[in-house]
Formats: sequence, C-alpha cells, structure tokens
Amino acid sequence: MTTTAIVSALHEELAAVLELMPDERQQVVGGRSFWRGHLHGHDVVAVLSGIGKVAAATTATSLIERFGVQSIVFTGVAGGLGDGVNVGDVVVAQRFLQHDMDASPIFPRHEVPGYGRATFEADAVQTARLASASALVLSALPSQLGADVLTTFGLQAPRCHQGLLISGDRFVATTAESQALRDVLPDALAVEMEGAAFAQVCHDYGVPLAVVRTISDRADDAAHVDFPRFLREVARRYSSAIIETLLRKK
Ligand code: SAH
Repeated sequence: MTTTAIVSALHEELAAVLELMPDERQQVVGGRSFWRGHLHGHDVVAVLSGIGKVAAATTATSLIERFGVQSIVFTGVAGGLGDGVNVGDVVVAQRFLQHDMDASPIFPRHEVPGYGRATFEADAVQTARLASASALVLSALPSQLGADVLTTFGLQAPRCHQGLLISGDRFVATTAESQALRDVLPDALAVEMEGAAFAQVCHDYGVPLAVVRTISDRADDAAHVDFPRFLREVARRYSSAIIETLLRKK
C-alpha cells in the first residue's frame, strides 16, 4: 500500500487532521513530530510543515527519505492576490513560484539557479482529485458554520480557484507589498510561505504533490487582523473536511 503525507501549515490544522486518525504514533525526526497512522484506511504520515521555505524543504525531505511517502498533500491558508480571490475561497495550486528568488542579473528574476526554470508543477492527477474534494467541501461546509461566522467573513458564496501559487519568506501584510507582487506576477492567485519549497523538493525526488490553500486574508493592511481570526474560526474546519473528503473518495 502507498503512504500519503498530509502536511499542515499550522497547529490548528494538524490537530484537526489528527482527530481523524485512530491510531497515530509519533516519531521525531530533525526536531519535528511526524505522526504515522491511518485515515479512512489509507497509510498516512501527518506533520506540521513549519513556517517558511527552509522548514518546508526539510520537512518534505524527511517525509520522502525517512518515511518513504509516495505522494504529498498540503493544506494551509494563504493571502489572496488575484482579482476575486476572496477570504473563504480556496486555491488549489497548479504551479508554484518563489516570489523572493532573485539571482539577477546572473539569472532571470524568479528563476531557480540550476533548474533553468522559475515555476514547478503540481501533480495533475492528485490536484484534480484535491480540487474536486475542495469544491465538494465548499458547497457544503459554509452552511454548517453558522450565520455569525458567515457574515463576519463574508463567506456566502466561496469559490474554488486553480492556478499559480507563490511562496516566499515573508508574511505579506501591506497593501503596497501585495500590489507590488500583483504587478510583477499578475497570474498569482495567492501568496504563502511553503508551497513552492515543497514543489522544488518533490520535483527533485519525482514525488507527486498537491496543495490546497484556504484564503485567510487579502495580504493587505488588514491581513494581520483577518488572519488569526480566520484561523480560529474557519480554517481548521476547511482543511480537515477537505482531507477527509479526499481520502474517503480515493
Ligand atoms: N504567528 C502565526 C504565523 C503565521 S505565518 C502562527 O503561527 O499562527 C503565516 C502562515 O500562513 C504561513 O504558513 C503562510 O504560508 C500562510 N499565510 C497566510 N496568509 C499569508 C500572507 N498574507 N502572506 C504570507 N503567508 C501567508
């Protein structure tokens, strides 16, 4: 049987995934707790990625080298950048880019030296599965969240987007910075801090990767207020529901 890694970006999300696992056992590698067990009959390893690209890359490497996972699914939150990518929407990544990679003028801006490319791809098959699980959850979950949460976050008609996800070692929390990212990378749907690092490691090892991000903020001047509130009240319920739907269907 194949082993799937379930990676969460934040404690709240991992806790919700562990609640779905009946028999998880902890193993510490590189100071990180990996939880090996089952979820809906699948062999899984659940782990917190840690924040930022370095933590993400070492987590991905341990999952592949030490735990022998054959595919990786990542759930987290992100700041919305694209027009119409609103708080409560979901972005399923088709490709990834490190927005803070810049070895110019030796290499073109954003190109990862040694790879001859700036973008890395998500696995098409896993990503299609993750997108349909996400769409299913989006159609059902908001109605279970209660009227208060729905109006506070404006979650009446959440949408599932697919496209470019960008990562960097910055929490983007000013309107000026998010506008600058939009100007340079007009195709970017959302910004976070880990996805593109996972994508580079998965590319190196030929391991399929799928990433879903719930939009917690708009990466603007209000991001620091919206982000923690969204995490507390909404995000963890999205990620565990998406994972559960994905593995139940498989
Ligand atoms: N103190 C916080 C730190 C969060 S860092 C905590 O641990 O609760 C932000 C996390 O959310 C990262 O994992 C990143 O991938 C994602 N994220 C959400 N909104 C973001 C934004 N506007 N810019 C960058 N990353 C964002």
